[in-house]
Amino acid sequence: MNRKQLEIHLSQVVQPFKQPKIELEQYQTPPRVAANLLHIAWLKGDIQNKNVVDLCAGTGILGLGAALLGGEVVLVEKDQEAYDILLENKSKIDQKTQSVLNDVLTWQADMRFDTAILNPPFGIQQNKTSDMDFVKKAGQLAEKVYSIHDGSDRNQEGLPKLFNKCGLEIQETYLEEFPLSSSYPWHKLKYKIHNVLVVQASSL
Ligand code: SAH
Repeated sequence: MNRKQLEIHLSQVVQPFKQPKIELEQYQTPPRVAANLLHIAWLKGDIQNKNVVDLCAGTGILGLGAALLGGEVVLVEKDQEAYDILLENKSKIDQKTQSVLNDVLTWQADMRFDTAILNPPFGIQQNKTSDMDFVKKAGQLAEKVYSIHDGSDRNQEGLPKLFNKCGLEIQETYLEEFPLSSSYPWHKLKYKIHNVLVVQASSL
């Protein structure tokens, strides 16, 4: 399956959050952004026949995409409503995956993974947790990490050091446009384009 086919397939099978929860920062990765990230990871040999974990899986777009590219995937999500949609989405693809309803930060995995993929909450809702808490967990679980972050200049500058603190070294980054639809009442515009930074990192 090439990049474009993956994007189309994901846009057909992955139903979005029904009532996204602000406090959990439930924003689904657009199929184009998901397909780009996964295709790059696949080209680098980090998906096919690899043990892959999708942390904060939401409706499952990243993990299910990884399964479509030949990964052995475990998806972890803590919100029951998101998880129910994930299960529905997962039933629409042929590949076998495992899913876990649990808090990523306290989840005890019984194995180590080759690759972690994640679009975690960024911590912009003044949660106590930030994306780095999830990156730290990803670094503990896997050799390679592909993650999505706020793309502001300030954040971009700070990320290499923050990743180092999590035992990871950033190998590559690129910017993506992440259109946020007005799922929330406080969004005045129908769509807002947000810049996100996609990071690929390896264990130190
Ligand atoms: N990764 C998905 C969802 C992104 S939204 C995608 O790319 O489309 C962030 C997701 O993280 C939400 O589904 C939210 O419910 C989940 N989440 C937030 N905190 C979590 C935690 N501590 N453990 C597991 N999932 C969490």
